[in-house]
This record gives sequence, structure tokens and C-alpha cells, in this order.
Amino acid sequence: MSIASLVLVINCGSSSLKFSLISFTDGEPVLSGLAEKLGLDEASITFKDQAGNKYSQTLPESSHLSALKILFNELNQRQLLPAVKAIGHRVAHGGSEFKQSVAINSDVIEKIRALSVLAPLHNPANLVGIEATMVLLPDVAQVAVFDTAFHQTLAPEAYTYAIPLEYQERYQVRRYGFHGTSHRYIAAEALTAFDLNPADHGILIAHLGNGSSVCAVKNGKSVDTSMGMTPLEGLVMGTRCGDLDFGAAAYIASSTGQSIESLYKMVNNQSGLYGLSGLSSDCRTLQEARSQGHARATLAIDVMVHRLTRHLGGHLTSLHRLDALIFTGGIGENSSLVRELTVKRLGVFGLQLDEEKNQQAFGGRSCVISKANSPLVAVLSTNEEKMIAMDAAAITSAL
Ligand code: ADP
Repeated sequence: MSIASLVLVINCGSSSLKFSLISFTDGEPVLSGLAEKLGLDEASITFKDQAGNKYSQTLPESSHLSALKILFNELNQRQLLPAVKAIGHRVAHGGSEFKQSVAINSDVIEKIRALSVLAPLHNPANLVGIEATMVLLPDVAQVAVFDTAFHQTLAPEAYTYAIPLEYQERYQVRRYGFHGTSHRYIAAEALTAFDLNPADHGILIAHLGNGSSVCAVKNGKSVDTSMGMTPLEGLVMGTRCGDLDFGAAAYIASSTGQSIESLYKMVNNQSGLYGLSGLSSDCRTLQEARSQGHARATLAIDVMVHRLTRHLGGHLTSLHRLDALIFTGGIGENSSLVRELTVKRLGVFGLQLDEEKNQQAFGGRSCVISKANSPLVAVLSTNEEKMIAMDAAAITSAL
């Protein structure tokens, strides 16, 4: 791939399409943006260039295809389109089928479609983006990068639910894990940042954003992670409850007469920080409210931290050593409060926070925030788009 090459990264949701045009020379975005409210009234697309200038327009038709047409038109006008040598698509669920990123062909498309049973909201939306792009730019190589792929190295004891095994064999019910692209990126960054031995290291990663997960990485491979068959399992998130006793869900259903669908919406969209605080799913807002004595915001953050530390402690048992605990994601990279509360609870494992360094870690800065005699605790900024672009470039170059 030549110096002037660009990779277009596309992340298609059911009503949105995020894009980032990444220069392979430095991994930096040349142009990025978001199309929103696709399928609804007033769909629009916003572009942001390298200088931070923003420009929006309404879409002539409220569809992913229309958003892509406008995007490619914009790239053409800026004379960037000929430099696009590959397109990387974020795909939510690769099941047990996809253990790494792959060049997209008709066979891959059919497999992603078949896996929609495991991610009915996400995979079909991802396919809309892939198929529309294939129609509009048929000569540019496309690559699928799966959120689940990094966790395909989990051992059976880590991915198997203790329900009758027939459900795994017949219906693919098992733990898959998500945020794999972020965890893989951070694991690779940590290797160079902390000069770790590629063949002998152990890392815990806490990716904390609107969606959150923990991953234990042993010698470059994911060995345990907190999300499960869907992104619902594990940590307390913006609106997801994370781990929940199924008995409690069954009791709520029988007490309130709610359907499975209604309960599923409640645990995914009305729970977590939002449901606990009754205020917001946004950690910043809750921190502000907590500082003013808001009892439910205080409880929400405490429950989130308790669950997080419980998972970190549990994940530690899948490692043979701990070289570093790394925080990333919007909360992990910016919230000194969440990091402080978390690391204090992990003192039992010898982790000690340098409070001054912790206060200085925000806004995408990478830094170590532990004391000298503690296992490393650090903040690293994640970059899923760059990881997708790197995969797309590498796979395309090898074609
Ligand atoms: P997503 O999972 O959607 O990519 P992000 O990784 O952007 O989400 O994380 C969003 C979360 O990060 C929100 O809860 C937001 O409040 C939190 N966040 C961002 N900046 C700060 C900050 N300075 N302090 C605390 N939380 C922050």
C-alpha cells in the first residue's frame, strides 16, 4: 500500500453510520463524521475535517445508501476518493466462525447474515453498510473486522455457560465477548509502551465507555472477558445492567406481567447508571451530581465500581502474572474518580495509585498512574478506527 493510501472505516448502526477516513501513513483521520436518524425524519450527515471544521447537510433520502452516496460524493469533491484503497467495516458478531478480520466476499456476507440470529440489531445493520458500499464502490477491497474475534482464544471453561450443553451445540449459546478491537489495540499498545515480553506477560484491560467490558490478556491472547453471548453481561454500563440473577428477572416477569421483550429492553436500555441514578447514563453528569450529594448518583457510581473491581479480581485468576492494569474508553481515559475508587479496592492485590498522576490523566493522554512499588496501572487511549484501518490495509495488501 502506497504512502498516499487511505482506508475508509465504516461503522453502520441501525439508524446511524459513523465513518473515518484514515491515512495509513500516520493512522490519523483525514475526514470523519456521522450520518444520523437514518430511516427517520430529518436524517443528516456531518463531516469533520483534520482542522476540526464541521459541516452538516440533510440527506435527500433517509437511508444508509443515501448517506454513503453523499459521503462518496464529498470524498470525490475533495479529490480523496482515488486514494481510498480499502474499506474496513466494523461487524458486531462473528460467532465462532470468524477468529480474525477477513476480506469480504459473497461467502463472508452470507455467514455474517446467518450470524444475525446472535446479533439481530447489529449484524443486519452492518450488512446494509457492506452491501451498499459494494454497489457504490465495487472495485475497492472491503474487509470485515469483528468485535468478537479477539476473544475467540477463550478456553471452553471460560466461554461455556453452565446450562445443558445442548444449547451450545444446537443454538450456539456461549460467551463470545465484545469490544475485541479495542482490547486488541490496547494489548498491542501496552506491549510497546511498557516494553513487555510478547511471550510472557499478563494484562488486565478495563474498557469503560457507554458500553464497558474487562479483558484478561495472557501473552497477547484474550483469555477471559466480561461480556457474554451479547454485550449485556458483566459490568454496570450506561444503560445496561450487566450481570443479573436470572431468578430476579423471572420474578420481575411474573410479578409485573412484563414480556421477555419488555424485560430485555429494560435491562438493556433503562438500567445501569441510568436506571440506578434516575438521572443520566452519562458518567460525567453523575460525578457532578455525586459531588453535590445526590444519593442515587453516588450509589450508581459505587455499584459500577464494585462490579468492576469484582470482575477485575476474577479476571486476574486467568493470568499467570500481572504486568499492567490499563484503563481505556471515555470513562477509563477521563474519570480520575472511577479510577481512584477502583484501584483503592484493588489494594489487596498490591496495586497502589499515585493520586497526583491520576488527576493528570485525561483527554486521551497516555500515562502511568501507579506508585513505583505497585504493579503498573496505566491509562491508554483506545483507537478502534485505527485498528480497523490497520487490519483493512494489511489484508488488502496481501490480496
Ligand atoms: P462509547 O461506548 O459510546 O464509545 P465513550 O467511550 O465515548 O462511549 O464513553 C462515554 C462515557 O465517558 C460517558 O459516560 C461519559 O460521561 C464518560 N466521560 C467522558 N469524559 C468524562 C470525564 N471527563 N469524566 C468522567 N466521565 C467522562
